[in-house]
Amino acid sequence: MCGIVAYIGQREAYPVVLKGLKRLEYRGYDSAGVALVNAGKLKVYKKKGKVAEMEEFATGKDLQSHIAIAHTRWATHGEPSDRNAHPQLSGDGKLAMVHNGIIENYMQLKQELLNKGHQFSSDTDTEVLIHFIQEIKQSNECSTEEAVRIALKRVVGAYVIVIIDEDNQAP
Ligand code: GLU
Repeated sequence: MCGIVAYIGQREAYPVVLKGLKRLEYRGYDSAGVALVNAGKLKVYKKKGKVAEMEEFATGKDLQSHIAIAHTRWATHGEPSDRNAHPQLSGDGKLAMVHNGIIENYMQLKQELLNKGHQFSSDTDTEVLIHFIQEIKQSNECSTEEAVRIALKRVVGAYVIVIIDEDNQAP
């Protein structure tokens, strides 16, 4: 079963979510990842394998942030791999999402997005949903929150999602 941790506040976010992921390891998972925003730039670090492998990969990189989302994945759509690990990014790279569950109608949504020119870099149902949200945000010129509300009306499945938005600054 996957795990999700998120933090926003005055503390350094990365150590908080890393500790959270380690506490969730007992649930079982195949990969781990984190997304954070520093100086208006979204950063994603993710790796197949243990949280410690993701931690090693991220060491020395830009980890400063007061906002972060993190995930341990239990694959349902797409093999365990770096590229299928969460967070998954929107097409414009401004939204990152972690997701627990399954988007049952992801193939139909993916086809619609492919027809609109979207390109995907993973095999996950998760990436389809975050592309779909960004597509709605762009075409409706609405907020991320409103795009999520509209998108979820079309989504069939069972899911928990957490999204980080590059344009939303932490306190
Ligand atoms: N269905 C998603 C995937 O395969 C989420 C799996 C999970 O809940 O960890 O990436």
